[in-house]
Amino acid sequence: MYDVVVVGAGPGGSTAARIAAEKGLNVLLVEKRQEVGTPVRCAEGVSKEAIEKFVEIDRKWIAAEVTGAKIYAPDGTEIVMAEEMAGNEVGYVLERKVFDRHLARLAVRAGADMIVKTTATGMKKKENGAVEVFLRKMGEEFTVDAKIVIGADGVESRIGKLAGIDTTLKLGEIESCIQYLMAGIEFDPEYCYFWLGNEIAPGGYIWLFPKGKDAANFGIGVLPSMAKKKPKDYLDDFVAKNFGSGEIVEVVAGGVPVKGPIETAVADNVMLVGDAARHADPITGGGIVNAMKAGFFAGSVAAEAVERKDYSARFLRKYDELWMNDFGKTLHRNKILQQKLLKMDDKTLNKLAKSIAGYNLKEMSVRRIVMELIKHNPRLLWDIKDLFI
Ligand SMILES: Cc1cc2nc3c(=O)[nH]c(=O)nc-3n(C[C@H](O)[C@H](O)[C@H](O)COP(=O)(O)OP(=O)(O)OC[C@H]3O[C@@H](n4cnc5c(N)ncnc54)[C@H](O)[C@@H]3O)c2cc1C
Repeated sequence: MYDVVVVGAGPGGSTAARIAAEKGLNVLLVEKRQEVGTPVRCAEGVSKEAIEKFVEIDRKWIAAEVTGAKIYAPDGTEIVMAEEMAGNEVGYVLERKVFDRHLARLAVRAGADMIVKTTATGMKKKENGAVEVFLRKMGEEFTVDAKIVIGADGVESRIGKLAGIDTTLKLGEIESCIQYLMAGIEFDPEYCYFWLGNEIAPGGYIWLFPKGKDAANFGIGVLPSMAKKKPKDYLDDFVAKNFGSGEIVEVVAGGVPVKGPIETAVADNVMLVGDAARHADPITGGGIVNAMKAGFFAGSVAAEAVERKDYSARFLRKYDELWMNDFGKTLHRNKILQQKLLKMDDKTLNKLAKSIAGYNLKEMSVRRIVMELIKHNPRLLWDIKDLFI
């Protein structure tokens, strides 16, 4: 009998396991892959400020540090967000293979048990109020009991479905992504790059995140509900046109949930964190920091629940309150912004970009850009102004 079984050792699960173990709970962290952190399905960009709150920085898992971002409108209009600006939503480009392992190690160091190459396949409520978790390790089936299950099992979450939590994703609620690690290309390693436009990346964007001087994560996310071809075809066209000389040394594909906040991420005995709870940002697609925040909240609420011997959804709603009052508000706001942007054609995007190109944006954040856009285009964005001021 464990106090907590955490399913999935991504940033969300490992953080939840660490916090629960630090609070004295008896924790098992279960990961289906044979190695934590691989294959990487991520562009690996995070805000410096945000990540530093959750883990002590270790240069081993930082591949690059950027000081700004360049955003390009469909007609090439450039918006530069540069060095002196605080509150970054980018900053570090991680080496997630090392980062995810580091987080799992911190959980183990805090006292959590861990098993890899083990898949959680089912759950059953027991008469004593606990949950039986069904596991499969290299063909061998076995079960463990848990007072609480934390589902940190990513975008394809099985735990959410098993617990009856509504996390369904419609076609327009998941970005379909493909990314190349490209070597031998030229760019300024001080910057992350973003390209927008309905022709090049419908419903999403193309990104380049440096991983050293001449290598970078070069990827695209598109909404399948808007795309006319596969994400790979869009990316290949863009690369051939703009970075033809580079070589692809790694390919990753994956989905990012851009649903916005779900109504609840809890059920009796269960809490969902990170991508499993659709915690990724609907505008940026970033989900690492929110997953870690959610893991922190879930680990803390699990400790309270165990102390009170109350594992009911009613008590666990405390966790809902914590994430909703924290990044949940931003998910809500950015979902509305996303819906608005999706309706804009390339001409409007160009107009918006031109209106703020050359301005000194004081902070590298979605909020900051949108506030500046509202100032210069009040009529176009009037209906969303209250969300950003
Ligand atoms: C192409 C791409 C680029 C991205 N770029 C960025 C970025 O630059 N910055 C950013 O912040 N976010 C980015 N994201 C999103 C980010 O990767 C996720 O939001 C983040 O990894 C979520 O963390 P998590 O812990 O919730 O889930 P995950 O990191 O997905 O971890 C889930 C874990 O659960 C395991 N698992 C799944 N099912 C089971 C099971 N049944 N039993 C046991 N284990 C299981 C998986 O193997 C996995 O290790 C990107 C995503 C994609 C696809």
